[in-house]
Amino acid sequence: MRGTPEAAPLALVIIGGGAAGLSLADCLVRHDLQGAGGPRFDVTLVEAPEGPLRPAPRTWCFWDDGPGAYEEAVTAQWSRLRITGPDGDRVEAAPAPLRYRMLRSTAFEELVRTRLAAHPRVRVLRATVRHVRARTDGRSGARVHADDPAGRPLILDARYVFDSRPPARAPLARTALLQHFRGWFVRTDRPRFDPGTADLMDFRVPQPAHGLAFGYVLPLAPDRALVEYTEFSRHPLTVPAYERALRSYTGGVLGLGGLTVEGVEQGAIPMTDGRFPRRIAPAHVHIGTAGGATRPATGYTFAAVQRQSRAITEALGRPAAPHRPAPAPAPHRRRDLAMDAVLLRALDTGRIDGPRFFTDLFRRTPAAQVLRFLDGASTPLEGLRIGLRCPVGPMLRSAVELPLLPRRAAPGTSPAHP
Ligand SMILES: Cc1cc2nc3c(=O)[nH]c(=O)nc-3n(C[C@H](O)[C@H](O)[C@H](O)COP(=O)(O)OP(=O)(O)OC[C@H]3O[C@@H](n4cnc5c(N)ncnc54)[C@H](O)[C@@H]3O)c2cc1C
Repeated sequence: MRGTPEAAPLALVIIGGGAAGLSLADCLVRHDLQGAGGPRFDVTLVEAPEGPLRPAPRTWCFWDDGPGAYEEAVTAQWSRLRITGPDGDRVEAAPAPLRYRMLRSTAFEELVRTRLAAHPRVRVLRATVRHVRARTDGRSGARVHADDPAGRPLILDARYVFDSRPPARAPLARTALLQHFRGWFVRTDRPRFDPGTADLMDFRVPQPAHGLAFGYVLPLAPDRALVEYTEFSRHPLTVPAYERALRSYTGGVLGLGGLTVEGVEQGAIPMTDGRFPRRIAPAHVHIGTAGGATRPATGYTFAAVQRQSRAITEALGRPAAPHRPAPAPAPHRRRDLAMDAVLLRALDTGRIDGPRFFTDLFRRTPAAQVLRFLDGASTPLEGLRIGLRCPVGPMLRSAVELPLLPRRAAPGTSPAHP
């Protein structure tokens, strides 16, 4: 579908202005402007109005081997990573050329919105989407039913709809854990941090009865850092329980002394072997977390969202067949998802010791290889090497029993949208 000035641009609606919606819109726009023959895409991005559907500002971290499309919005980056075992044993790694990068969602949104505003065929609408249906006028595509901020109904027709609204309910799963956390942006009275090193997992925190817990420290300056308490377990904690854990970690473990909490961040990311349906209808596809972009064993999503956006953009740029369904590329490879399902089961049953597992993983394997594996970019040989360094007995037992277990609804999940 190499555009010509006469060719009608492809009408696309993207629902949700979070990481996935904005990344896809941005990717389309960047590629569209590079293409010859005028805009090929006509993009409407529908963002929820201010209110409960808008997520709080958040921090996205990912690793990358060079300045990427969002470099201007990167707040901080680290070339060294550290994992600390329960006994204080440290594994440090410089996974060059990879660097761990941090984006604040506010800076990312501002950068992408500026780019979108420069494109002649992008419009950003504030509306609450109610549902998406097939078009009834005999044309291929989908119809989005929404309400504008004043509550008036709004209808948008598109050839394809890419939808990042949170899923109505968690998918049926054999294992459904959460990566749940609360973090403080702290300023300390004295310099306490090494801004060159990020602490990915610090297991010197009391371990919960089920799952695992660790501290996460991203230094922003010698006296400033984001310090988080994280658990991989079935249920989130109350705010007072997170606060207690953070006080104990910053005071008792890190010995930060006097500090001021300048901001907080809290969240829960699904860690599940459930399958998130991507293609809802021929012209309606889920993207982002709703489309399975969250890596089950780590919760990392941002890098997969970028891959998903590139793959959709490339597919949309290929010659169109008149009734071709919307592209719905898989954000993760099957073998990575299979390994994650085994690991989640082994963690959930307590068959493996989580802190030891992650510390050993980084101790025994070059960090760049582990990070590529966690990103779904490792070669089959690298994947196999990592598999062989895992505790073989418990993993094998989990792998063997998995197909025999039923997939169940995760407790406490309720519909988020109809
Ligand atoms: C606090 C936090 C920190 C995280 N940190 C990382 C990290 O460091 N690295 C990483 O890789 N992943 C991280 N994640 C996981 C993941 O990257 C994020 O959850 C990410 O925001 C997912 O992107 P998304 O677009 O799928 O969902 P969201 O960013 O949540 O976007 C969904 C969008 O849909 C909109 N919406 C919802 N309902 C409607 C409706 N009815 N009509 C219109 N719009 C609607 C919302 O307003 C929102 O803008 C983090 C998650 C959280 C919660």
